[in-house]
Amino acid sequence: MTSRMFVCETFFKYRGPASKSGNSLFQCMKCPPNVLNKEGKEALLSCSDVSRNNLKKHLKSKHAGLVDAFEEACKTSGKKRNANCLDESGSSQPTIRESLSSKRQKTIISQTQFDELVLDYIIGSLLPIRHVDTPQFIEYSNGISSGNFKIMCRQTLAKKIDDRFQTSKQALIDILKKTSAVCTTAF
Ligand SMILES: [Zn+2]
Repeated sequence: MTSRMFVCETFFKYRGPASKSGNSLFQCMKCPPNVLNKEGKEALLSCSDVSRNNLKKHLKSKHAGLVDAFEEACKTSGKKRNANCLDESGSSQPTIRESLSSKRQKTIISQTQFDELVLDYIIGSLLPIRHVDTPQFIEYSNGISSGNFKIMCRQTLAKKIDDRFQTSKQALIDILKKTSAVCTTAF
């Protein structure tokens, strides 16, 4: 990963590494599109990866009014970028299509884990036990798991909630057994 200095894309779009190592090519977004250089190629600006001086020079000569706005944009968005821990390699956020495609690692969970998740969801959201029997919940669960999991009925759910309660109660009893004093107002 290169540690290329952040450059606000509203002003200059990163177009890849330049032939000179340690430099990158940028397209000025403020120039009219399809500006060609002397050789008839698309005009790109080369700038060192550790400074924005060449880009600033271009702004000064071609778009003098934008120098301050550019510096400000690089400062603020650069901070945001670092906070989000995004890399500086020029790779942008994946598109929705890319995110949904098979490139993304599939998460495989077991039936037991699925049951535990349902349990957490019902308890955490204070939902009625009969929620698991609603066609909407069944449709939702089958939809997100491609029908791979058995959805527990409300009797099973009630039993599992009771099991969890007994386990938590026993764990609490075990803790309290070992302690010599308890501050009751702390609960
Ligand atoms: Zn320009």
